[in-house]
Amino acid sequence: MAGNDVLYLVIPCYNEEAVLPETARQLLNKMNSMFERGMISRESKIMFVNDGSKDKTWEIIEELHASNPIYSGVKLSRNKGHQNALLAGLMTAKDKADMAISLDADLQDDVDVIDQMVEKYYEGNDIVYGVRSARKTDTFFKKFTAQGFYKLMQAMGVEIVYNHADYRLMSRRALEGLAQFKEVNLFLRGIVPLIGYKSDIVTYERHERFAGESKYPLKKMLAFATDGITSFSIKPIRLITSCGILIFAVSILMLLYFLAVHFMGRTVAGWTSMIISIWAIGGLQLLAIGVVGEYIGKIYLETKERPKYIIETVLDD
Ligand code: UDP
Ligand code: MG
Repeated sequence: MAGNDVLYLVIPCYNEEAVLPETARQLLNKMNSMFERGMISRESKIMFVNDGSKDKTWEIIEELHASNPIYSGVKLSRNKGHQNALLAGLMTAKDKADMAISLDADLQDDVDVIDQMVEKYYEGNDIVYGVRSARKTDTFFKKFTAQGFYKLMQAMGVEIVYNHADYRLMSRRALEGLAQFKEVNLFLRGIVPLIGYKSDIVTYERHERFAGESKYPLKKMLAFATDGITSFSIKPIRLITSCGILIFAVSILMLLYFLAVHFMGRTVAGWTSMIISIWAIGGLQLLAIGVVGEYIGKIYLETKERPKYIIETVLDD
C-alpha cells in the first residue's frame, strides 16, 4: 500500500548509550526501505527522547542528528520516567507528523511490524496496537508478573489490550485526542483505548534486549501496576466498603452470640478470640486507610496540575 504521510518513530531513551547506535542503524534501514517502497513521506523522522540520561545518550543523539537530519531529538530537563518521556515525544511529534509509532530503545519490539502498522493506518485505523504473541525470551518471573498484571487490571475493570505494551501507532487525530487527557498520573496503556476511533492490532514476538539492562526492576513494576490500577479503577475502594459492611454484619451476629452466652452464664475468658479480632480488624483498618490514602494522594497530585515534563531542547529540522 502506498501513501505519502509523515511518520515519526518516537523512542524514549534512558541511559541507552549501549544500544542507541545499533537501534539508530536498524531504524534507519527500516525507514529507507519504506521510503523506497513509497509508503511514507521523506519528511518522516526517527525521534529520540532523552529522559534525563546520566550517560552519553544525549551526545549520541546530537551526533546522529548532525550526521543525518532524519534523526531528531527531544531532551527533557530531567528524568521523568518512561511514560512521561513517551508523551513528551508524542506531543512533539503531533504537530509535525500524520502518524507516530512509539517503541523502546532496546528494539525488543520487532521493528518489522512497523510496515504492517503503517498499512493498517492507511486502511483507516487511527490506533494500531502491537501485541506480543510469545514471551519466549522473557524470564519466568517477568512473564509471570506481567501476565498477572494484565489479569489484575482486567479484574479491576481497567480496559487494556492484553499483552500490549507501549508499541503502537497513533494517527494525528488520535494524538490530538490524547492531548486532551490532562491527568498527571499517566498510564498510557489505559488512556489510549479511551480515545476511541477505529483500531486494530498487529502481533509480533518480543526479542531479548540486545545490550544494556532493563530499566524496570521489580520496584518500578509494582509502582507502575499500582498507578495503573488506582488511576483507572475505584474498585479497591468499593472492595473495602463491601469488606466493612461484611465485617459489621458479622460483628452484629457475634454481639448476639456473646449476649446469649452471657445470659446463659457461660462467659469465659475469651482472650484468644479477642486478641485475634483486634489484630484482624486493626490490620484491615490500616489497609483500608492505606488504599483510601492512595487515592487521596492521586487527587492531591492531580489538583496541583504540575507539568508532566519540561522540554529543554528539540533537534528537529
Ligand atoms: N525508559 C525511559 N525512562 C525511564 C526508564 C525507561 O525513557 O525512566 C525507556 C528505556 O530507555 C526504554 C523503555 O523506556 O526505551 C523501556 O525500558 P526497558 O527496556 O528498560 O523496560 P523493559 O523492556 O525491561 O520492560
Ligand atoms: Mg526493554
